[in-house]
Amino acid sequence: MICLGIESTAHTFGAGIVDSEKRVLANIKDSFTTEKGGIVPAKAADHHVEVCDKVINEALETAKLSIKDIDLISFSQAPGIGHCLRIGAFAARSLAMFHNIPIIGVNHCIAHLSIGEMLTGATDPVLLYASGANTQIIAYEGKKYRVFGESLDMGVGNFLDSFARYIGLGFPGGPKIYELALKGKKFIELPYSVKGMDVSFGGLLTNLKQKFDSGKYRVEDLCYSLQETVFAMLVEVSERAMAHCGKNELLLGGGVACNKRLQEMAKEMCKERSAKCFIPENEFLVDNGAMIAWQGILEYSAGKRMSIEESVILPYQRVDEVVVNWKD
Ligand code: AMP
Ligand code: MG
Repeated sequence: MICLGIESTAHTFGAGIVDSEKRVLANIKDSFTTEKGGIVPAKAADHHVEVCDKVINEALETAKLSIKDIDLISFSQAPGIGHCLRIGAFAARSLAMFHNIPIIGVNHCIAHLSIGEMLTGATDPVLLYASGANTQIIAYEGKKYRVFGESLDMGVGNFLDSFARYIGLGFPGGPKIYELALKGKKFIELPYSVKGMDVSFGGLLTNLKQKFDSGKYRVEDLCYSLQETVFAMLVEVSERAMAHCGKNELLLGGGVACNKRLQEMAKEMCKERSAKCFIPENEFLVDNGAMIAWQGILEYSAGKRMSIEESVILPYQRVDEVVVNWKD
């Protein structure tokens, strides 16, 4: 079975083609970026409308396939920015109806976990999902994916991007903060907010802005210290979730997981507790169509079906609302 997966939850419009033999035949994307300011939903949606034909066609060309070879179309149905989700759903529905191909909508967060398992061989991991809008610790327990911990305010990526924006860097800010952090030398004590398995970044963001405005600190030292602080928070709650669930695998997902320092800290924690740390290639950590395609294959192969009427977007769906039919 060959599946075309369409991703459009936020800034990225992606089209991936994956087959049931776990081969990624194409994974093309085009992301909305800005020099100044963050994601404006309507503008990101305009971006997706502009690039959707091009991205899907490029995926088909890369895979050396025509739309007639596609057996299944999957799309990110949830969660995400409504404006953006709607464009992917519209593209998926149009192709499905015009070419008479079955359609299936999937949960984006679960897709991050499934592609990670498929690529790395992880079997029952705790997922540290660190992306722009989402920061969650997710694991499969009692026949459902459940959120064991999460950010109580903004996602860690949004936190990085907000601070980057404040100090005059564009979007996405995470990679720029990483570069500056490499030149940091002095650790500056910052607020550390962990409550059980939850984290929050709002107070830290305010504190950093005040420190930046005071002019007393090198920006490189602020970036270095903020990375050390927030990644320690993320790794701490991941470890707590692993201990709570009795799982000995950690899987990383989300754009912020591309950060080499976070990867290093996650590996170190796993090593100390004799657990395994799995990190997919960057291309599959960030939002991408291949993970949506693979999730579509998993659910369709296990018997899930969706009518066009049911293929409405669900911007606020949480992972524990998804009926899991593809796992024991
Ligand atoms: P996603 O929403 O999963 O596509 O991830 C997007 C987020 O990842 C944005 O907030 C980026 O700033 C962040 N990001 C991307 N690369 C890095 C990196 N190397 N270090 C930290 N954050 C990153
Ligand atoms: Mg994502």
